[in-house]
Amino acid sequence: MAEVSFHEVTKVFPNGTTAVDALTCTIADGEFMVLVGPSGCGKTTALRMIAGLDEPTSGAIAIGGEVVNGVSPRDRDIAMVFQNYALYPHKTVLKNLAFGLQQHKIPTAEIEERVREVSSLLTLNELLDRKPAQLSGGQRQRVAMGRALARKPRVYLLDEPLSNLDAQLRTQLRADLKQLHQRFATTTIYVTHDQVEAMTLGDRIGVMSDGKLQQLGTPQEIYRHPVNVFVAGFIGSPPMNLFSASASDGRVDAGDLVLEISGAPSGDLVVGVRPEALRLVSEATGEQAMQVQVEVVELLGHEMIVYGSIRGHRVATASTAAGIPSLPSERAIVIARLDARREPAVGETITLGFSLDDVHLFDAKSGEAVTRPDSLASPRLAGS
Ligand code: ADP
Ligand code: MG
Repeated sequence: MAEVSFHEVTKVFPNGTTAVDALTCTIADGEFMVLVGPSGCGKTTALRMIAGLDEPTSGAIAIGGEVVNGVSPRDRDIAMVFQNYALYPHKTVLKNLAFGLQQHKIPTAEIEERVREVSSLLTLNELLDRKPAQLSGGQRQRVAMGRALARKPRVYLLDEPLSNLDAQLRTQLRADLKQLHQRFATTTIYVTHDQVEAMTLGDRIGVMSDGKLQQLGTPQEIYRHPVNVFVAGFIGSPPMNLFSASASDGRVDAGDLVLEISGAPSGDLVVGVRPEALRLVSEATGEQAMQVQVEVVELLGHEMIVYGSIRGHRVATASTAAGIPSLPSERAIVIARLDARREPAVGETITLGFSLDDVHLFDAKSGEAVTRPDSLASPRLAGS
């Protein structure tokens, strides 16, 4: 087991693409770290550099405290599972599981022991005599994971290992992975574009965009305090509502959404509120509220997603929310996640209430979060 660290690691490919840009972070010994970000943000390149399949253009990578730049992949003692897992098609499951261990000259008795252990862990016992073509996608992926697990390396690297599977299998294997990690506590770096996977699996999450690490923290820290507009819009589903606003003297004006926030800086801002922070209220409750015209309602059983509109401008984000109807340009969609017991009619005007504590402010130009000394620091008084 080992700590993995990146120090100012940059990778520029010969065609001039900067895939990873000055990445600095440390993954603690035994930690489950998820790197998440949209396609093309540099996740795979970061993993390949840990594995030694790509060399950094500059910067240092260390495993277990030792710089590994220039060390060949086979001497790094890591195991990697790719999205397009390649099993040996002519070997049985048993032989697929054992092959890597034989390559590493592990004694036969120990190979048998390890193969038995992972095949019962991953419920592969019944499949040991089959060839990959006789397995379902989920079974094949379990074999690929088993092959990595059997190695007992210092570090696991997993590159979108679940993205080729259907939703049910994904949930199942996600739970298996979490359990396996709890049991072995081997340092694991898991890469995905799926923020739900990141939130459910990671001890910590690193959010990447354009080769740069945007924020590193626990799932809760990132959800509660996104450091910039990108992270705010990327983490959370449905995505945070983000509106262009202009502020002066503590009055933040985003069209039909107007807030009094003492201490808010003047100028162009982005104001954000999550769909789950909104609730349906009858008017005049004294809390923050906005009047919203209902456009589309999606019922999901116990809750519903309401797409409403206000006068204003929604800021585009990396997360493309499905099902948003097109609107006249002066109106903006507000997404609310509400209790399904009172279903509003399309065209109806409803009042959505929220707490100022759930409002995020960002500088419009830099995208950076604006700290609000007033409401973030002080506890709210009852009824205020
Ligand atoms: P992700 O895994 O997050 O989707 P990648 O690490 O695969 O992203 O790629 C990051 C960027 O580097 C992308 O713009 C991609 O097109 C580019 N890239 C990846 N591999 C190469 C390569 N071998 N040569 C040139 N550009 C590459
Ligand atoms: Mg990738």
